[in-house]
Amino acid sequence: MSGTLHSSTTVGVEGRQATAPMKESCEHQAECLKRIQSILDGGATEEEKEHFKQHIDICKPCIDMYHLEKCIKEALQGKVEKKCCPDKIAAAIRSEITK
Ligand SMILES: [Zn+2]
Repeated sequence: MSGTLHSSTTVGVEGRQATAPMKESCEHQAECLKRIQSILDGGATEEEKEHFKQHIDICKPCIDMYHLEKCIKEALQGKVEKKCCPDKIAAAIRSEITK
């Protein structure tokens, strides 16, 4: 009498992505901020925009900075709805307009 042993093996595959690790700090933050501002002002060249897009793929602080700058700009233009991280934005706007 032979029975079939049904063994199920669980394959431990990790959902690991082969992307470069994000940088937690940016060594060119001042440069990046200038570029962010010129992009948001519409004064950046295509090349600069392209370069920056690649940069924010790996640079975490610059992504945050980009979003913050964008929100501030839109808020100052009265375009923004109150949905993007209100506390941080409100504080940033306040310091921006009380200069
Ligand atoms: Zn950066």
